[in-house]
Amino acid sequence: MARVPVIGGNWKMHLGLGEALQLASDVRNRLGSVRGSEVVLFPPFPFLKPVVDRVEGSNLRVGAQDLHFETSGAFTGAVAGPMIKSVGCTHVLVGHSERRTVFGDTDAIVGRKLLAALDAGLVPVLCIGELLEERKSNETFRVCARQLQAAIGAIPTGRLDDLVIAYEPVWAIGTGLTATPEQAQEVHAYIRQKLADLHGKAFAEATRIQYGGSVKGSNAAGLLGQPDIDGALVGGASLKAEEFAQIVKA
Ligand code: PEP
Repeated sequence: MARVPVIGGNWKMHLGLGEALQLASDVRNRLGSVRGSEVVLFPPFPFLKPVVDRVEGSNLRVGAQDLHFETSGAFTGAVAGPMIKSVGCTHVLVGHSERRTVFGDTDAIVGRKLLAALDAGLVPVLCIGELLEERKSNETFRVCARQLQAAIGAIPTGRLDDLVIAYEPVWAIGTGLTATPEQAQEVHAYIRQKLADLHGKAFAEATRIQYGGSVKGSNAAGLLGQPDIDGALVGGASLKAEEFAQIVKA
C-alpha cells in the first residue's frame, strides 16, 4: 500500500511573530498547493493561530510542538490538547527528544501525552530514537522498541489509524550529523516490524515513519528514497523556506 509521505517543519523556539508569519507565507508560496505529500508546520505556541490563519485555504497543516496530558486544570505554563485543536491545529509532536532530555518527559509521560493527543482529535507524531551512547553500545533497537511499547503498546489498534512515527536518532538532531540512508533504513525496517508485533501487519504497513536528524535539501533524496522512510521531520532546515521546499520536493 502506498503511504503518503509526511514532511514536518519543527520551528522549535525560534523566530518572532513577524518572522514566523513571513516564513509561513514563504512556505505557502512554494508549497501551498502541494499534492502527493502532507506538509505540516510546527511553530511555537504563541504563533499557532496566526500561522493557521496565514496558511488557511492551502494544503499546509499546522501542529504544536508539545501538549500537556491533562485537558485543563492548575498546570501553569502548560497547554492542553483541546486548546491546540481549537485554534485550528491538526497535529502535535509527542516525545520529541528535546522534551525527553531537557524537560524530563519520561516514557510514561509520553504515553499519557499520546493518549491526550488522540482524545483531542489531533494526529500525534510520536518521536523516538537513541542517544549516541546507546547507538555505540548497540542498543538502538532496544531503545526504539521500549519507547514504542511504552507509548502505543496498550492503546487499541483502532485508535491509532492516523499515528505518525518520527525516528530521530538523538545524535543527529541539530548536530549536522545525519544517519546514512542505510543506517536509517535499517532502523525504520526494525520499527515497522515492531509495529507489526504490537498492532498487526496491516497497521505496520499503513503507518508512516518519518526520519529526523539534520535533514537538508542536499541529503533528503537519499533518505527519502529508502523503502521504509515515509517522510522527514525537519528542524533547522525548516526555517529556510527554499530549503524546506527542496526537501518536500525530494
Ligand atoms: C528536529 O527538531 O526534530 C530535528 C530533526 O532537528 P534538525 O533537523 O535541526 O536536526
